Amino acid sequence: MSRAPRDPDCIFCKIVHGEVPSARVLETDRAVVFLDVNPVNKGHVLIVPREHHARVLDLPDDLAAHVGSLVPRIARAVHAATGSDGSNVVINSGRVAGQTVDHCHWHVIPRFLNDPVDWPWPHTAYVGDEIGRTAAQIARALDERPQAEAEDD
Ligand code: AMP
Ligand code: ZN
Repeated sequence: MSRAPRDPDCIFCKIVHGEVPSARVLETDRAVVFLDVNPVNKGHVLIVPREHHARVLDLPDDLAAHVGSLVPRIARAVHAATGSDGSNVVINSGRVAGQTVDHCHWHVIPRFLNDPVDWPWPHTAYVGDEIGRTAAQIARALDERPQAEAEDD
């Protein structure tokens, strides 16, 4: 797991530290919010923790809580500024999920009636007790100690 607060090769670390320009809309002591330079729709913003953590599962809970607490305020401001009809709030985690910048971040994407964005995702179905077994597996994993704590022993 990546626990380093900064990665010298990371574009978002460079933006957070003011070494690469960005169109900022908000800064807090633990996060920076700026426009995505290649937006899904105009007004698409990224909420980025100041510390470098690659994936969502690497984030300390208290940092995730702070960044998450900004989402409603940011979504309201994007809605007010763009006149959007709705929004998608998304975290991509891992290449397979479409993450291209390995510094965990939240996307807030304004959505407009009849915009060209390809959504929703396709859905699948559980067979038999698969849903119960899957829930049990995840619940068991939640009871296990986090990796970082286990490594401290
Ligand atoms: P993800 O694919 O979830 O990792 O999202 C990364 C996002 O960062 C993409 O939507 C990019 O358009 C955006 N991005 C990459 N470089 C920059 C940059 N220098 N300034 C603003 N947004 C960027
Ligand atoms: Zn970074």
